[in-house]
Amino acid sequence: MTDGTTGGQLHAEWDRVCGRMRTEIGEAAYRSWVAPMTVRGVHDGLARISVPTRFMRDWIVAHYADRLQSLWNDEDNAVHSIEIFIQSDRPAAAADQESPSRRQATKVPAKAATTANVVDQISASLDSRFTFKNFVVDKPNEFAYAASRRIAEAQSVTFNPLFLYGGVGLGKTHLMHALAWHIRERDPSRTVIYISAEKFMYRFIRALREQNTVSFKEQFRSVDVMLIDDVQFIAGKNSTQEEFFHTFNALVDQGRQIVISADKSPSDLEGIEERLKSRLNCGLVADIHATTYELRLGILQSKAEQMSVKVATKIMEFLAHKITANVRELEGALNRVVAHSELVGRDITLETTKEVLHDLLRANDRRVTIEEIQKRVAAHFNIRMSDMHSARRARSVARPRQVAMYLAKQLTSRSLPEIGRKFGGRDHTTVMHAVRKVDELRDHDSGFAEDVELLRRMLEG
Ligand code: ADP
Ligand code: MG
Repeated sequence: MTDGTTGGQLHAEWDRVCGRMRTEIGEAAYRSWVAPMTVRGVHDGLARISVPTRFMRDWIVAHYADRLQSLWNDEDNAVHSIEIFIQSDRPAAAADQESPSRRQATKVPAKAATTANVVDQISASLDSRFTFKNFVVDKPNEFAYAASRRIAEAQSVTFNPLFLYGGVGLGKTHLMHALAWHIRERDPSRTVIYISAEKFMYRFIRALREQNTVSFKEQFRSVDVMLIDDVQFIAGKNSTQEEFFHTFNALVDQGRQIVISADKSPSDLEGIEERLKSRLNCGLVADIHATTYELRLGILQSKAEQMSVKVATKIMEFLAHKITANVRELEGALNRVVAHSELVGRDITLETTKEVLHDLLRANDRRVTIEEIQKRVAAHFNIRMSDMHSARRARSVARPRQVAMYLAKQLTSRSLPEIGRKFGGRDHTTVMHAVRKVDELRDHDSGFAEDVELLRRMLEG
């Protein structure tokens, strides 16, 4: 089989490698991951090992391959690398119910085989960067983080379901993956499924079409922890909701953990049936709030560290200040700035940052709303918000109103008629007049000019 190694020798070597692995990683992990491996041969120092599923291969490559290789090299220094590949040893159609003899042939313990199969068939893969360790915690997300950690570490089901909600790009998927990683790592024998609600829906519809709903349901039976991302996607899809509800109830009744995410709270989800809403509300509901400046800065620091790049504090503060929409955009901005500096071979400066991100910065600036402008201006001049819409023409309210119109023109991409509408349905010529008036006053009154400038800077954040 090998160059100079007999088949018998090979297996004796492999058995010793396995024995040492068993001592190092413990019986449960050994049975789940090492025992199912089959050595196929050694050629030119490369040992080829097959495993039955993609999920197993990925896991073994990520966690055990290096150690296996070094143990084997200790046994036989002719072996200097190993390759792990997928070979299921069974006809695809019978994948779920393998015969006892087959099972023996691939040495897959029953539970591990079902676990790996179900995970392979249903679960989307997990992003290796989305771990608890890489999640920066601060006020806006501390509750959602604590709840996720609690579920990940719990020995038994306490809150069911855990419902995480928040705006786009604020870390819901990251937390769900982190939770899944944590449980899988702690106990590989538990079946942890992560799936988007959209995928769930497609699978169900396919099962309906293929008249296969029984096996669709069966698949979910063996799941210990089920994470379903973005349930707002099944809103309004009645038959999917129905099936989701049944799967959900069945799993909860069997004491399995469920984690769900959405962009809104259960009560605010539209197009979701009342009884489903109330079930979703039954467990623990945790929201992730919009980011704060401190959180954004923390995330930038952590990201830069992960990428092993040095970015001046001044630059990070600038980004944390300017890119406020969500974390995804913030990460994207940092990546762009870093990539640019690596490509041109120059340090990151404030100038290049502004240049590289000019489109993104403009888009973020534009996110100032007319309402915010009105509120700020009203507070600054100490008038009521309602005066922004009122017909009162006294200068003490008319002037601030004109300033607000002027700033709306400067800071948003709204047209004159749109701005007019937001100020109590005024005509676009009124807005035009306000813009001219404020320009004129700024030229002649330095105190007024300073006021306007101050407001502009505050609004641009
Ligand atoms: P959502 O699912 O809520 O739309 P994601 O979980 O996909 O958002 O997060 C978007 C990006 O932002 C991901 O790359 C994620 O790693 C990152 N991210 C979000 N929140 C944090 C955080 N608190 N710490 C570190 N990275 C974060
Ligand atoms: Mg997401």
